[in-house]
Amino acid sequence: MSSMNIILFGPPGSGKGTYSSKLSPILGIPHISTGDIFRAEIAKKSELGKKVEPLLKVGTLVDDKTVIEIIKSRLKEKDCKKGFIFDGFPRTLEQANEFQKIAKIDLVVNLVLEDDIILEKALARRICEKCGNIYNVADIKRKGIKMPPLLPKVVGKCDKCGGNLIQRKDDNEKIIMDRLNTYKKQTEPLLKYYKKEKLIKDVPVTMGPEGMVPLIHGVIKEHFKSK
Ligand code: AMP
Repeated sequence: MSSMNIILFGPPGSGKGTYSSKLSPILGIPHISTGDIFRAEIAKKSELGKKVEPLLKVGTLVDDKTVIEIIKSRLKEKDCKKGFIFDGFPRTLEQANEFQKIAKIDLVVNLVLEDDIILEKALARRICEKCGNIYNVADIKRKGIKMPPLLPKVVGKCDKCGGNLIQRKDDNEKIIMDRLNTYKKQTEPLLKYYKKEKLIKDVPVTMGPEGMVPLIHGVIKEHFKSK
């Protein structure tokens, strides 16, 4: 097997970040989240952070050129040799086209869930302000879906580093709906692009991470078995 270049694709709040961070050590490839990179730059108050902060606040996409530069420099790091899991990249056709000039994608795992569930999940997301680890306080049981909450051991504190759990500034109802619209207009059309190359595996999200992570891992193993 030469590489494992994977995109975890899906609407905002579908679980891309949680699943990617859990799959990364299992698969031995890094989890690359452009959203996490931007949030870290904002926390550092770097030039890039200052530039993108207002965009992230309202859920507007960062320009393609900036995103591609970030991805290019991240892929130069040694840990990407065997592959990577992209979470939140690419988000536009332009990004996908530009990326194709640098490397190829082997698999797109497309997380499928309905809008009302997306909204409920995103509103209930909590993240550690220090390390970005993700939690969720929603307990969703309907339409064949069973997603228990993902709670920390100590209320309001991160299990990994003890940092405070906060709500992302862009996880409020208005901005989630705007991000969902942006996803439908600018990102979802990418599915057609990857469908042509027969790279997509649809995976409905019906369980919490303890069920979804092994399920997605199985899909990935099956796909790369013959490579
Ligand atoms: P996420 O953590 O993936 O939900 O991303 C949070 C925010 O970061 C998005 O709402 C965008 O403002 C920005 N962002 C992250 N990834 C990208 C990307 N690939 N293209 C443009 N903007 C992005």
